Amino acid sequence: MSNCLQIQPIENWLSTKCSPLVIAGPCSAESREQIIDTAIELSKIPGVKAFRAGIWKPRTRPSKFEGVGEIGLEWLSEVKKITGLKLAVEVANPKHVELCLQHDIDILWIGARTTVNPFSVQEISNALKGCKVAVLVKNPIHPDLTLWLGTLERLNNAGITNLAAVHRGFYSFNKTLYRNEPLWEVPIELKRLCPELPVICDPSHISGKKEHLAAISQKALDLEMSGLMIESHIHPSQALTDARQQIMPEALAAMLEKLKVRAFSGTSDFQNQLEMLRQEIDEIDRRLIDTLMQRMEVVEKMGQYKRQNNITILQLNRWNQMLTERLALAESTGLKSEFLLKLFQLVHREAIQIQTDIMNEGVKE
Ligand code: PEP
Ligand code: MN
Repeated sequence: MSNCLQIQPIENWLSTKCSPLVIAGPCSAESREQIIDTAIELSKIPGVKAFRAGIWKPRTRPSKFEGVGEIGLEWLSEVKKITGLKLAVEVANPKHVELCLQHDIDILWIGARTTVNPFSVQEISNALKGCKVAVLVKNPIHPDLTLWLGTLERLNNAGITNLAAVHRGFYSFNKTLYRNEPLWEVPIELKRLCPELPVICDPSHISGKKEHLAAISQKALDLEMSGLMIESHIHPSQALTDARQQIMPEALAAMLEKLKVRAFSGTSDFQNQLEMLRQEIDEIDRRLIDTLMQRMEVVEKMGQYKRQNNITILQLNRWNQMLTERLALAESTGLKSEFLLKLFQLVHREAIQIQTDIMNEGVKE
């Protein structure tokens, strides 16, 4: 699966060059005043090209604020007239699509709770056949790259080529620093599979609080993401949804100003130097693979030896001792012990598997 989608670059549908594209606005449209006041302030920020607002809110549990509905689209039309900003709204069913198209919404987005449902996605895609609108697809709540791709493909099959993905982090059952774990490797893999697909980061839903927004945004830009979708509210503390992660437009302006936008590639001199360093890395990785291969060959011999002598695979004392020694070594080299711990856990898991296979050799199921 590669180069799977037919995609237009963002500039083609936004009719302006922007790197990065910043989409900002409140989590939810709550009142006409809140929408217009927020949009006017946001329109003063040079990087902000589109205004987002949730009109129908997918709430995890019932009896919470579920959005103002259609009236909010009227307020958004006013925003476009006053500020000229493009408009972005979440859609979760064909009725939402129809109303958004009637109100000239420029960018629709599929939320994390909808991306997981191929029935809903297909219905939305059918409703969008022949439309020129842009569609953003948020990652599904859990880290399933295939579902994310599947949603993009369904839209693409319906003729939507103004497409981008939005990385908003992934639910974790464990308590973590962020509301949704970034698992950066997932959007990176998406980019590897579909290099033409712009990926936009939503640091607000990753972070869950305003304190981490700048760091996550910077990381996203450093990973070649094409834009940021950030929640901003004129009075964040009064917000009816996601109050802790919304920032005032002034705070957003200050944050954007501090972000470093680095070039995706450099001068030919830079590229040559980089190429030399890459070759060095390639060589080291080859040695790393050789070393791992040799290590696993010894593991195999140990497995045979344990089998001949009818000895258990896991030797807990040895494993504990190994870990302590390896982590002590890490300290002296400057490598992070957290990293080495993960690495050795992985290597150990593989070693156990190899020995288990040896123990089971010739044993009938
Ligand atoms: C939102 O953007 O307000 C939203 C509901 O996002 P997500 O689908 O990422 O949870
Ligand atoms: Mn939100």
